[in-house]
Amino acid sequence: MRAIISRFAPAPTGFLHLGHVVNAVYVWRETRARGGRVLLRIEDHDRQRSRAEYEAAILDDLAWLGFEADEGPVRQSERGAIYEEALERLRRLGLVYACGCSRAEIMAALKGRPTNEDPVGRPFRAAAADAELWYPGTCADRGLPEAPGLGLRARLEPTVERFVDLRHGLQEQRPSEQCGDVLVRDREGNWTYQFAATVDDLVQGVTLVVRGDDLLASTGRQIQLARLLGREEPPQFLHHPLIMKSADQKLSKSDGDTGVRELRARGWTAERVIELATSVVAGDHEEAGLDPSCGSDPY
Ligand SMILES: [Zn+2]
Repeated sequence: MRAIISRFAPAPTGFLHLGHVVNAVYVWRETRARGGRVLLRIEDHDRQRSRAEYEAAILDDLAWLGFEADEGPVRQSERGAIYEEALERLRRLGLVYACGCSRAEIMAALKGRPTNEDPVGRPFRAAAADAELWYPGTCADRGLPEAPGLGLRARLEPTVERFVDLRHGLQEQRPSEQCGDVLVRDREGNWTYQFAATVDDLVQGVTLVVRGDDLLASTGRQIQLARLLGREEPPQFLHHPLIMKSADQKLSKSDGDTGVRELRARGWTAERVIELATSVVAGDHEEAGLDPSCGSDPY
């Protein structure tokens, strides 16, 4: 049996809030229940948005809450050589190409297409802010030389990725139809979340990824990317429920900010913060209109 190694991986682009607390509860609970270890990884791959003071505050709040990692913190900003090496492997496989497309250009390229060409089989809906943008491969055969100001993409294979999520069960995803060729470095020169996290999970030997339901749809592409990078067995994934939108709005309205800093400043104890975070998590029954607090534990 593989040793269980999980990670808690906040991005220092803001302060710790209740959503992070929910994730921490799940990460530590699920990992400890399996006798595993938790690594702490600071995902500061976005150099423009990451700040040292956020990192310091996150570490301080985590310690105050009582979440103790077994290793780390490791910072993505210090791991450029590791990502370069992984990129080089993809280059040798002929999978990397330069891409100069902005988000607006990708959307414009998609608009020009008849909707029946939409690979996901639905009308073009990328206008919604949270809709996933499918990259139509505009630069795939342009042979652009790699240069500052251009991004880098990795070609995906038209595979179906099957995996068993520890909470949701069997999943089937078609990354090449969901997102198209995946961006590994953006036009500002930042490694992307998808690439950096996948490389780190591989290099750090992470075998259990515990994260929110909002990332479930991107799991297939990380599994495929990991395989292209030489990973034989992907990590196991567990996607947990997020804080209910309605609760989040209600909390912000009645209590002001839901940041851990603010709650601390108001004299809350760590136990009370953790209790609040876990009490406002959407259960499996939320969609059915049932009170989640009456729902059974999803496990
Ligand atoms: Zn492009």
